Amino acid sequence: MDSRRDVAGIDRVLAEADAGAVRLTRVLWCGNDGTVRAKAAATPTLRSRMVGGIGLTRAQQAQNALDGLAEVPGMGPVGEMRLIPDPTTFRLLPYAPRTAGVLADMVDLSGSPEPACPRGFLRRMESRLADHGLSCVAGFESEFVLAREGPAGWEPIDRSPCFSTAGATASQDFMDALLAMLDAQGIGVESCYAEGGAGQNEIALAPGPALRAADEQVLVRETLRGLAPALGLAASVAPKPWQRSAGNGLHVHLSLRDRKDRNVLGDPAADHGLSRISGSLVAGLLAHLPGLCAITAPSAGSYRRLVPRAWAGAWRCWGHDNREAAVRACSPFAGREEQTSTVEYKPSDASASPYMTLGALIAAGLDGIERGMTPPDPVGVDPATLSDAERAERGIAALPRTPAEALDALEADGVLLSALGNDLARSFIAVRRSEWAIYQRANDAREFADHFLRY
Ligand code: GLU
Ligand code: MG
Repeated sequence: MDSRRDVAGIDRVLAEADAGAVRLTRVLWCGNDGTVRAKAAATPTLRSRMVGGIGLTRAQQAQNALDGLAEVPGMGPVGEMRLIPDPTTFRLLPYAPRTAGVLADMVDLSGSPEPACPRGFLRRMESRLADHGLSCVAGFESEFVLAREGPAGWEPIDRSPCFSTAGATASQDFMDALLAMLDAQGIGVESCYAEGGAGQNEIALAPGPALRAADEQVLVRETLRGLAPALGLAASVAPKPWQRSAGNGLHVHLSLRDRKDRNVLGDPAADHGLSRISGSLVAGLLAHLPGLCAITAPSAGSYRRLVPRAWAGAWRCWGHDNREAAVRACSPFAGREEQTSTVEYKPSDASASPYMTLGALIAAGLDGIERGMTPPDPVGVDPATLSDAERAERGIAALPRTPAEALDALEADGVLLSALGNDLARSFIAVRRSEWAIYQRANDAREFADHFLRY
């Protein structure tokens, strides 16, 4: 439904704002640069904002993470669009007093969707999937680090080993507050633990329909960073928060559902346990992987993270429970096969817009499905243990090594470009190239400092 005509939804928003004594509602978006941004509506204007939107320059989708403007025709200082809040996403923000948040779509002044809107892109891909009688359910595994400010800048709160209870103890007050705040926002969490990196933790979010999963991913990032200062901490989802410790992944678990909401991925009787459709999904992801990386791993730090032997999925191949493969077919859990037959995509991090990530993964998977692609043989070893010749023989390639290499691959990928559409593809590529032009020449310390608090 058009959010602006959802009268009952808007009434509910106003009632919730009133009950929560809300003064400000942050109208949130996450654009081409992966930065979460907001313009807030004061409560007396909230009803009119829900219908008429918030004014935003068309240049916004040309803005990079350094607040510089990339050169994109039609996205300069002249030209206006509107952010239309989606009432179904409204909620009180527990880390900000008397403040609510709502996710928004970009529309032009005549009220039509802006072609460069990332949330609109994901909606378009969901509707293309629906034409095949399918929907996508996504679950994000969010890794993040907690830090305290020390004499030398941000320092990890602990250096305990992976999954160690010492790490869980170091972050327990934060995690307790985090879970309470996510619960208050209606965001489900499946598990959490101390991860392998310095000060690193992970929360696995309950899977949900793709658009909702992307909205919640934005709200989770906001909650992590919004809550930390009150505890004297900073939280960072930057893909490589520290030079010499593990990166922060944002692995995505995908499943496809039919019209009766049945998971169509698992098939114990089929070759490799993959149904025909999951084979095509895997094949589509692998076929488009280099171009996908530009979207799902879009920052300078992304390529510091995407290296072999970092469990980040740095090889272009797939395997059953192979955590060095970019695409992992996950063994389902007994008794929960329906919910847990998933394909995990690993070269993804939180410097990307989650709408762009899920939209691009669906576009790649759809190409596999529409063309009836079949996947190559699964890889059952760590590809780093194979020789170059063995990898070449099995068709295992390395991922792009820089944003520029990934963006070149995206520019050569007609399927992804046409799924994005001209305006979104052009602006995204220009924004990410403009960031790389700076970080390619910047010293490491500057890049790390910028990324740490940006993401
Ligand atoms: N931190 C790793 C990454 O960057 C993932 C570790 C794991 O969850 O296995 O993707
Ligand atoms: Mg992990």
